[in-house]
Amino acid sequence: MEQKLAELKHRLATVSDLHHASALLGWDQQTYMPPRGANARAEQLATLDRLAHEFFIDDAVGKLLDELTPALAHLGYDSDDTSLLRVAQRDYAKAKRVPPELVEELSRAAALAYEAWTHARQESNFKLFQPHLEKIVALEIKQANYLGYTEHIYDALLDQYEPEMTTAQVQAIFAEVKKELVPFARAVIANSDRVDSAVLHREYAAQKQWDFGVEVINRMGFDFQAGRQDKSVHPFTTGFGLGDTRITTRIDLNFLPTALFGTIHECGHALYDMGSPAQFERTPLAGGASLGAHESQSRLWENIVGRSRGFWHHYFPRLHEFFPAQLADQNVESFYRAINQVKPSFIRVEADEVTYNLHIMLRFELELALIEGKLKVADVPEAWNAKIQEYLGIIPPNDAQGCLQDVHWSSGSFGYFSTYSLGTFFSAQLWDTATRDLPTLPAQIERGEFAELLQWLRVNLHQHARKFTLDELARKITGEPLQTHAWMRYLKTKFGEIYGV
Ligand code: ZN
Repeated sequence: MEQKLAELKHRLATVSDLHHASALLGWDQQTYMPPRGANARAEQLATLDRLAHEFFIDDAVGKLLDELTPALAHLGYDSDDTSLLRVAQRDYAKAKRVPPELVEELSRAAALAYEAWTHARQESNFKLFQPHLEKIVALEIKQANYLGYTEHIYDALLDQYEPEMTTAQVQAIFAEVKKELVPFARAVIANSDRVDSAVLHREYAAQKQWDFGVEVINRMGFDFQAGRQDKSVHPFTTGFGLGDTRITTRIDLNFLPTALFGTIHECGHALYDMGSPAQFERTPLAGGASLGAHESQSRLWENIVGRSRGFWHHYFPRLHEFFPAQLADQNVESFYRAINQVKPSFIRVEADEVTYNLHIMLRFELELALIEGKLKVADVPEAWNAKIQEYLGIIPPNDAQGCLQDVHWSSGSFGYFSTYSLGTFFSAQLWDTATRDLPTLPAQIERGEFAELLQWLRVNLHQHARKFTLDELARKITGEPLQTHAWMRYLKTKFGEIYGV
């Protein structure tokens, strides 16, 4: 068995190397590649991805998994080797079920749809994107049927991003949140004039924004010997194995939060990856458990820590040294309120903590209706506008600020959106548990000390890497299933105080 396990690990290591090489090319594409490199790069990426897929779905891998799984079951569910087999088996089954022709068709359709979407968004003309989205939806339905499901067709798509999570679970979670969130958001919005955020729109020199962000993430524990930060149009985190995690940020001269909170957010993702145990290197266990688990880390650092009053007690004087003129009329309190302004907005990525999840619920509901065949692609703009009016009381002036704003549908990422909210809810659940274990955490943050929080996350979450599902992790770490009341309580306390509701 030892020898067979070694052989399996060797094969999986090859797949991991190919994925990392592909990720490096993808990182370069979004950071430094000159525009005319796009065609050659698409071919290189396709080749590497195909090779990785072929190596992985090789029958020999399936045979090894089948032989080793019963043979090593006695080690117990939590053991590294059993977990490796379980996770690899799950990935293998999924990869094997979808015919390569469909993978190729989806990737081609997505490449074309992405081009069309960019154009449609620029022109704010949904009709230009519509035929592509129709094609994508049809292919996603086809893919879901190949992947298989027991209850709901959407389960198959969701499972790609949030393993073992079901549509019914997400619906139940969202329904519960909505009951309290919708009236609370309304009450806060009715008092929105209590907060002035004009300070954020002054002009902030790019290099200073960059330097301040680097100072903050250094302190958070981002290891520049094991990672780097660059600029890209859309910020993201990627990595090529332990010791090389990459984050990107973008800078808006006239909107301070873009770079500042974007940098902290991506650093949260990076710290998770940087905390993946060395023994999982080049195996499917390396990295984060799921997109929801990942988002819990980015949002915990960005919002619960980075947008807290305590954090700015420490950092406002420092930021003031960087920008004395822009912040001359500000103090900790006015700045804290400004960065926590709640305002109904059209664009999800710029939304505040209160309205953000309503943007997600809208997308989840529309996606579900599309996959169920209850909503026609042609009717998406109208359905979108009706929902955002229902949730936020606003109607986008055009589709660029409405249903054309996100990249996800053009890339065929159906099933993705809800993980943003699941991660947000989990972040508050983690914070509750962390502060129960370590009651001095808030005081540490007021002093700009993050080491103990990071250590707590390392021990409780990061060290498990991909071994467990989001719900398993929630139970293991917090003693409860994934739930929303911690987040709701956090939200109401924080924004209730700011807005006096
Ligand atoms: Zn994120």
